[in-house]
Amino acid sequence: MTVYDSFRYRKGMVLLGMFFAFLLFLVSGALSRNYPSAIFTLLTFTSLAGLIAGAYLLRFSCRCPRCQNVLKNDIPVSCPNCGLNLSAVDRDQSNI
Ligand SMILES: [Zn+2]
Repeated sequence: MTVYDSFRYRKGMVLLGMFFAFLLFLVSGALSRNYPSAIFTLLTFTSLAGLIAGAYLLRFSCRCPRCQNVLKNDIPVSCPNCGLNLSAVDRDQSNI
């Protein structure tokens, strides 16, 4: 598995987790409004914290293995800073 593939997989997993955190946020928020309870309030704030953590992971979790440059927003095929081809480098970084 190349670095590019592992970044795409990681981003997909984070987005999937953020989707479920958002669903939990909606459901627990609606339930806590209609049925005030500490557990629903706790679930609401926990899912909100999960959304914030997911946004942080999406922004800063993909770094170039050579120069540690943060690859923001979309994942490029090559690093814009050092030019490392991310689709040709193995995840174990043996051929950097
Ligand atoms: Zn780089």
